Amino acid sequence: MSPVASVRDTQGPELPDRSTLNYFMKASLNIYDTTLRDGAQGEGINFSLADKLLLAERLDAFGVHYIEGGWPGSNEKDIAFFAEAAKRKWTHAKIAAFGSTRKAGVPVEQDSQVRLLLDAETPVVTFFGKTWLLHVEKVLRTTPDENLRMIADTVAHLKKQGREVIYDAEHFFDGYKAHSDYALQTLRAALEAGADCLVLCDTNGGSLPDEVGAATREVLAALPQARLGIHTHNDCGLGVANALAAVENGARQIQGTLNGFGERTGNCNLTTVLPILELKMNRPVLPPGHLAQLQQLSRFVDEIANLHHDTRAPFVGLSAFAHKGGMHVNAVNKTDLSYEHIEPSVVGNRQRILVGELSGRTNVMLKARELGLQIEEKDAATRGILDQIKAMEMQGYEFEAADASFELLVRRALQAYTPFFELEAYHTSLTRKVHPHFTSCEATVNIKVDGKAIATVAEGDGPVNALDQSLRRALGGRYPQISKLTLIDYKVRIINSGLGTAARTRVLIESSDGESQWGTVGVSDNVIEASWLALVDSVEYFLLRSSGQKS
Ligand SMILES: [Zn+2]
Repeated sequence: MSPVASVRDTQGPELPDRSTLNYFMKASLNIYDTTLRDGAQGEGINFSLADKLLLAERLDAFGVHYIEGGWPGSNEKDIAFFAEAAKRKWTHAKIAAFGSTRKAGVPVEQDSQVRLLLDAETPVVTFFGKTWLLHVEKVLRTTPDENLRMIADTVAHLKKQGREVIYDAEHFFDGYKAHSDYALQTLRAALEAGADCLVLCDTNGGSLPDEVGAATREVLAALPQARLGIHTHNDCGLGVANALAAVENGARQIQGTLNGFGERTGNCNLTTVLPILELKMNRPVLPPGHLAQLQQLSRFVDEIANLHHDTRAPFVGLSAFAHKGGMHVNAVNKTDLSYEHIEPSVVGNRQRILVGELSGRTNVMLKARELGLQIEEKDAATRGILDQIKAMEMQGYEFEAADASFELLVRRALQAYTPFFELEAYHTSLTRKVHPHFTSCEATVNIKVDGKAIATVAEGDGPVNALDQSLRRALGGRYPQISKLTLIDYKVRIINSGLGTAARTRVLIESSDGESQWGTVGVSDNVIEASWLALVDSVEYFLLRSSGQKS
């Protein structure tokens, strides 16, 4: 019997009773990661073969159930990935190769793309087929019956070769809205040919959670023996919500990507969906305790993809448990639960207290304690520090990315700090000649170290670099460890001081000694002076660390 002959009546499916639904809701879920395939299709994301293998190993250790490694029919790199993957041992995950149905009018045994799927020698093969008649007729340019045969033939062929087969029903929700009978026929074609899982895809990302939930329930009523999965995209910002709606209505496989990477606005974000399942819905999916690796894994993926970390990402973002408003900080100091929906360490994150213009005394006190400095909320010093911070913020200072400048400020206010050097003067000059082309930057620095005057001059790529070189030269005799200090990032921002005066410049410098990193800030109406202030804080902080005065 061809799949076409098994057309259902048009009465519409009966819904399962509550006990059946409960069974499905309690049944175990599995996580299907497609960061390496769908995620890699995101703008600005390009994984090398080495990146893909590294990431697959991390995902496996983390405990996802499936890792979709790529599309062997689309590029050589993915073929090489599967060749490498076949040699390795995988602890938790099964590796899946991704592809499509056989071509229209081509016997499946002769279809080169399907052959490449088998050549990948993965235990699992996932392939997509068309659900939506619009695509069948306008994109594939074939008949509805041939499309059903393409799905069934491909499943049957892969099953015959011993593969676990996951069928991705592309544009399922759009197709189901347009012609629900035909959409169900495509699923039935895959199921009757032996597919192990039918994945409902919201390929264009335009569906709403109630539509996804209702359709999932109806599919399960029509095909009660099917194991369903869900694959959503985030075009309406609902990738996670839609996946959860499907899970609540019986879907048992969730497909998504780490950090929500993917085409356009991305895929269902596993970094969000996993903690929700485990912590909010009591549906554990990872090995016990592994959720605490989530934040690290999220940062690792950003590093590999060479993307900036999304500080506002739910659960894993740097700001996810950061408190700035004085009232909030006061409350979390009394009980964390007051403004935090979960304990941050459960997902590997931590609480952060920000010092900003909304700060109260509690922020300053907690922040100082976070940095290992003991001050009390009622102390006059605490009040003094807060006043100073507020005055500096009026000038355009910001301490959120400048912990080191904040710490120096507190230490200076507490008089718990002896400076390592004193500045007497600095001077920079830039000379540029057009003919012959010539640029030269020079800086002199006059400082006092241990009461002794030192004057140095140095050249640099620009005035700030020349100042940096000159200051290092001046300090090098007394503090030879200065050679370990490196400046790793330098950001300049033009700001308004908030007083209606001329624009000012804020410079943020990120530095490292090879072991840790710190940020410093300087503000002035002159970019050189702002840079100098941030630079001096960075050097002082480094000397403080290396002198052992700082725990
Ligand atoms: Zn997709």
